Amino acid sequence: MKAAIKTAQGDFWIDEVETPPIPHPDWVRARVKVAGICGTDLRHWKPEPQLEGKIIGHELSGVIDVVGEAVTDLKPGDRVVIETVLGDEVCPWCRIRHYNLCPRLYEIRAETISRAFAEYVIGPANRFYKLPDHVSFEEAAVLDSSAVSLHAVHLSGITLNDRVAILGAGPIGLTLLQLAKLAGARVLITDILDFPLQVATQLGADVTVNTAKEDGLPHIMAFTNDRGVDITYECAGGDYMPTTLREATTFTRQGGKVVIVGGFDEEPTAYTLDWMHIQKAEIKLIPSASYSYWGIYSEMQTCLDLLAAGKLDAKSLITHRYPLEQINEAFAVDADKAQQHSIFVALTI
Ligand SMILES: [Zn+2]
Repeated sequence: MKAAIKTAQGDFWIDEVETPPIPHPDWVRARVKVAGICGTDLRHWKPEPQLEGKIIGHELSGVIDVVGEAVTDLKPGDRVVIETVLGDEVCPWCRIRHYNLCPRLYEIRAETISRAFAEYVIGPANRFYKLPDHVSFEEAAVLDSSAVSLHAVHLSGITLNDRVAILGAGPIGLTLLQLAKLAGARVLITDILDFPLQVATQLGADVTVNTAKEDGLPHIMAFTNDRGVDITYECAGGDYMPTTLREATTFTRQGGKVVIVGGFDEEPTAYTLDWMHIQKAEIKLIPSASYSYWGIYSEMQTCLDLLAAGKLDAKSLITHRYPLEQINEAFAVDADKAQQHSIFVALTI
């Protein structure tokens, strides 16, 4: 099969590799149709020697190609969205379907199902969710971001009439905005670019603030009758964390919550925060990691249901499309959000 392989320089080259066989009777193989580029992929775009020779990518949709003999609910030709959150399936967290907390999660994902930038992918049948006919492969590829947002919404305990802030209007921030509105909250969303904030307004944001141009705090106070928001969701991550974590802990009211959705870098890092204020105000810091199940419901399936019902708009987030052969150009466009106005970049495979 054709696949995009990471080089030591961090970009990709297209090569022919062995098509993965199905290793277990309850696994399936799918022909990948669309794969998105995630912020995590972008951070790994720069030289990451340990990724050399690897296939990456974890936001994808496709068509079932082969099913193992124990699979009864999927058949070749089924259109699917593919969840790539896969642990060892035997640890205490996997056994209660909190597999996003599996200690071996990233190792196992990378070895198996998180290989979207290729023609075929394999995984357990229960990570492949059938798409209704009217949901496109492109929209389905956005569902991984949506499920990350839904997990943060679940952890936050958001409720009717809450006033919340979302920091960062990328695919996660913009799907979180829609979920927060569905939950009955009023939403102020920030970014350092105007373009994604225009999309946020179209998707129902009550207030948008470009924090590259002005201080967010006065807007927060005007939005909340000088109280601060009930919940702040940090959705920027990476290099923005020193700024956004400080903003989050000053935007949030006494007794409120800060949900950390954006990703950190691997090395231990110090952040300068007003810890005395955080303690005196009893601001709860809630890290959110990927997604899995909430009670009896798969968070991926819940997002698929919302998308299929027209309650979640994925189309508005898809700004660019490239064939797999142009993956390096696609990454460059995604990295240059200021010039390219990119939000969700889709690779057609
Ligand atoms: Zn596990």
